Amino acid sequence: MKAFSYKLAGSTDEATGTGTQSAFIAGGTNLVDLMKIDVMDPKELVDINQLPMRGVTLDNNGLRIGALEKMAYVAEQPDVVQHFPVISQALLKSASAQLRNMASIGGNLMQRTRCGYFRDVIMPCNKRVPGSGCPAFTGENRMHAILGVGNACCATHPSDLAVALVALDASINLQGPKGTRSIKLDDFYLLPKDTPNREHAIEPGELITGVTVPHTNWYQRSAYLKIRDRESYEFALCSAAVALDMDAFMIRDARIAAGGVGTKPWKLPEVAQALIGKRVSQATFEQAAEIAAKDAHPLSQNGFKVTLLKRTLTRALVQVGGGVA
Ligand SMILES: Cc1cc2nc3c(=O)[nH]c(=O)nc-3n(C[C@H](O)[C@H](O)[C@H](O)COP(=O)(O)OP(=O)(O)OC[C@H]3O[C@@H](n4cnc5c(N)ncnc54)[C@H](O)[C@@H]3O)c2cc1C
Repeated sequence: MKAFSYKLAGSTDEATGTGTQSAFIAGGTNLVDLMKIDVMDPKELVDINQLPMRGVTLDNNGLRIGALEKMAYVAEQPDVVQHFPVISQALLKSASAQLRNMASIGGNLMQRTRCGYFRDVIMPCNKRVPGSGCPAFTGENRMHAILGVGNACCATHPSDLAVALVALDASINLQGPKGTRSIKLDDFYLLPKDTPNREHAIEPGELITGVTVPHTNWYQRSAYLKIRDRESYEFALCSAAVALDMDAFMIRDARIAAGGVGTKPWKLPEVAQALIGKRVSQATFEQAAEIAAKDAHPLSQNGFKVTLLKRTLTRALVQVGGGVA
């Protein structure tokens, strides 16, 4: 770990006015980890924990979650559990109880990939050192992406929460030296393409102040299904966030995204579209799930994710759609 200085930010302006050599620290469960293994080496840590970026509120404008709220706290809020179960479940299936007590919503959305090559500084990695190469394409890639894979990077995005929020069309609220703005979370995450080192549409000095999820009544019919090598304390091999608007056995509308398979949280509007106007059945769900994998590019060790993606989506749809006839 390299030497760094520490500053406790007393105001949002003070925090956003810091230089490009700085990093914000919230819970520290990802940043400190990466500093210890020299993957990240900010010259200054700006502690944002005293900034007014808390609260979980629900009104006609939507569910607003402050960036500094802890994952464990948000998962247990009655409004979240009742109206947005997919968010609560995604949080509860993340990391471990200890981590969820420490980790913030903003930090979760900004966490870096778990790719072993990214986390090993003696290996080349286009995400860490642009242009140095990506050994995962010919090396260990069982956990890697099958969707959104460019020539430069095939690492998966790790956040479970992001998958649920992208499915529900959430927006991310940002504040920086140039003022405040809000963008769709789906647009916030960038594909690796030629700049795999740039994962987020965030500007230098910009803070995530919170996220807003539309208040859509039928989001209460939603769920998060996570498939992993062990049932706790493990990242997704594949996950599905599903919300269905139902009229008896007919599907009026749907929101769907997948995790563990994409270089960013993978929104699946074509799968959702294929469900609209259909009657729930195993066949309806399987046919829609088939679409999810149409652009998949499996690597040498992760071909199983193509089938796993379809089965995970189908199972999540059966779980949410219920009463398969
Ligand atoms: C063993 C282990 C298992 C895990 N398993 C899972 C899992 O299954 N699913 C999952 O989703 N996650 C998992 N995680 C990741 C964990 O959820 C993240 O480490 C945590 O959410 C990060 O939050 P934090 O507040 O500690 O962020 P920090 O470590 O403080 O920050 C992380 C990054 O976000 C930036 N940042 C923090 N807050 C803001 C803000 N408000 N605005 C702008 N930038 C900000 C920091 O500068 C830093 O770059 C796991 C972590 C570990 C160590």
